[in-house]
Amino acid sequence: MDLDLVNRLAEVLRLDEGDGPVLELNKAGIEEGKKRLDLCLVGKVIGPRPANKEGIENAMKGIWKLNHRFQVEELSSKNVFRFIFGSREDRQRVYGGRPWTIDKQLICFVKPMGLGEISKMNFDFTSFWISINNVPLACMTELFAREWAERIGKLEDIKLVNGTMKVRVRMNITEPLKRGLRVAVDELGNEVSLLFQYEHLPDFCFDCGIIGHKALDCPLRDFVGDNPRPDRGRYGSWMCAPSSPPRDRVRY
Ligand SMILES: [Zn+2]
Repeated sequence: MDLDLVNRLAEVLRLDEGDGPVLELNKAGIEEGKKRLDLCLVGKVIGPRPANKEGIENAMKGIWKLNHRFQVEELSSKNVFRFIFGSREDRQRVYGGRPWTIDKQLICFVKPMGLGEISKMNFDFTSFWISINNVPLACMTELFAREWAERIGKLEDIKLVNGTMKVRVRMNITEPLKRGLRVAVDELGNEVSLLFQYEHLPDFCFDCGIIGHKALDCPLRDFVGDNPRPDRGRYGSWMCAPSSPPRDRVRY
């Protein structure tokens, strides 16, 4: 069943006494089901191209190289899939290694909580490693990394690699990617531009900066007469960190 339709129905439709009494769920059955959920992730492919379970299974098998076999099940027609892993370690390896892409489209993973109600899952967030470039040496500190990362999303980790400050941030992918930050370096109005580069960045729009479509398909695309809008080209491939070759070379 279509996930959007389920969500819309769940908002307006409440079953009542006329539909019969409330059924108690079998406790042992619930425990068994929850244990199975501990081996699952639910992933939504964010992009216009439909994915299929065989394609995802084949592609990710080559990329993840897990210890145990895993299965993919299609959950709805809107690119949502359940991934069932052979061990908790495998599941954590995949979840901890986000973001993952297939055919340059992001797969947004959610750990099912509670009973795993799909209509309550939020696929709007994922985590990226982001290099913060052009940081003055005096600002190469954890304090500044924290402060700047919080402008992007929720900070998860910090590291310094070959003199580059990197932050791992959980961010809302329905909002435009942040290109950087302007930082005042003195009281005379001088500023430095800190530029962000994202590791394993999937397809995104160079016009509006949102993940999941390209500029040609941009719903916000507009023209002034025959000319493209003046803020075009604010985003670009320069935002992909050079140290992050795509991990989805296997196409389906
Ligand atoms: Zn766009």
